Amino acid sequence: MRILQAASEAVPFAKTGGLADVAGSLSAKLASLGHDVFLVLPLYRETRSWAGNARRTLTLGVPLGSETRSLSVALLEKGNLRIAFVDDPAFFGRPGVYGENGADYADNDRRYSLFCRAVLEAAKALEFAPEIVHAHDWQTGLLPILLKRLYAGDPVLGRAHSVFTVHNMAYQGLFPASSVTLSGLSLKEMSPSSLEFYGKASFLKAGLVFADRLTTVSPTYAREIQDSIETGCGMEGILRQRSRFLTGILNGLDVDYWDPEKDPNLPEPYGAATVFQGGKAAAKRALRRECGLKVDGSLPLIGIVSRLDRQKGLDVAIAALERRLGGFELAVLGSGDPALAASIRQYASRHPSRIYFREGFDESFAHGLYAASDIFLMPSRFEPCGLGQMIAMRYGAVVVGSRAGGLADTVFEADSGSGNGFLAEPGDVESLGRALDRALEAFHGPMWPKLVERGMRTDFSWDRSARAYIELYENLMGAALGPKA
Ligand code: ADP
Repeated sequence: MRILQAASEAVPFAKTGGLADVAGSLSAKLASLGHDVFLVLPLYRETRSWAGNARRTLTLGVPLGSETRSLSVALLEKGNLRIAFVDDPAFFGRPGVYGENGADYADNDRRYSLFCRAVLEAAKALEFAPEIVHAHDWQTGLLPILLKRLYAGDPVLGRAHSVFTVHNMAYQGLFPASSVTLSGLSLKEMSPSSLEFYGKASFLKAGLVFADRLTTVSPTYAREIQDSIETGCGMEGILRQRSRFLTGILNGLDVDYWDPEKDPNLPEPYGAATVFQGGKAAAKRALRRECGLKVDGSLPLIGIVSRLDRQKGLDVAIAALERRLGGFELAVLGSGDPALAASIRQYASRHPSRIYFREGFDESFAHGLYAASDIFLMPSRFEPCGLGQMIAMRYGAVVVGSRAGGLADTVFEADSGSGNGFLAEPGDVESLGRALDRALEAFHGPMWPKLVERGMRTDFSWDRSARAYIELYENLMGAALGPKA
């Protein structure tokens, strides 16, 4: 299959969150399975070093509103995967990806309108005729409508089918009505059946309405975004209308990168068969020493690695933990909302030998913390998929999390016999407290080693997810050909 993947970020080129993991890992996996995959990305400042390895560069004129911008596209190969970087330094060569100092760039509508047109113009110039164009999140949400409105008769792109994946409904790409015309669409698209969303133009809605197939990153989230306003973020009616085209496919994990058997950040390697032979205990000792945790090493160490955002429910976590102070030590790594950071800092400063908080984004410390944790806490109010809980299980931590989205698809209550963790209702302090009580009690009981091993042996690899996407692409192409005679 010829597949064009378009995303605003992908590992290892640029990353602000889970979207990058999915776009990068899925593209590489599909290419390694023999598909002809082109991944198209903007060339950000942090990505520039990659363009040095470009095999060739092509120059394109790309329309943006009434002007035509001249930009270049750098072409690179990485294994079997072909990558095209859209290079317009004035738009993408900035210190941030989407913004700086907590504020989005004011011209993100222009930046990603240009990017979407550049994706399609690059495919045309390269004569890469994709059978599937797979777009991700609002930044590439215009691709499905552009294919239908502007490229339907195009010899290269006219037969492409579109797939749109939503990684988080909360980011909707909302802009003034006039933004619609930047990509070459007519202002007529500012109607409720098209891009209009409460008086604004939504690039996310463009993807939701016009893509041939929709996916999101877990089966439970696929249901939740149709059911509730908190997870559907106002788009639940549109999603219900398109329900039969919407599938939830759980993200995979890069299991080579997240592997305690070969993780250079850990003092000693360990795996599912050796987790109780010292490697995990060494990681816990090292982290307790580094963080000044010294109440009692036989207490369970609770770990949190998280964006600091209301979504992640850390306020709920603190309220539930406050009442159980004697039973654990806690280490938190997080960055984001300054007010939330201040409240965690204050909480940690009240109990310095029991609670540690590191503010910032620290990849290496995150690896050590996953390994050191006995319990991993992830009390999200909503969670499209969540990678933290999968990484934690792979590193032998037992998860206490919310029954929401991808958490509900990967964490199963330990009481069930085949379970691997402890679940609470999202946003509910009492319920989270009870889940913590069950976990703290189980930690000292005979069931614990089984829970740890079961988590570590779970297959979170991309193989399963990539197969599900391939099946979806094939069904879509088959459906377009019509019933077989
Ligand atoms: P989201 O994408 O909503 O932030 P996920 O659980 O899907 O949440 O993915 C979070 C990823 O980012 C994980 O790989 C996690 O280890 C990492 N991460 C989150 N916060 C930090 C941090 N402060 N430092 C290092 N890594 C972090």
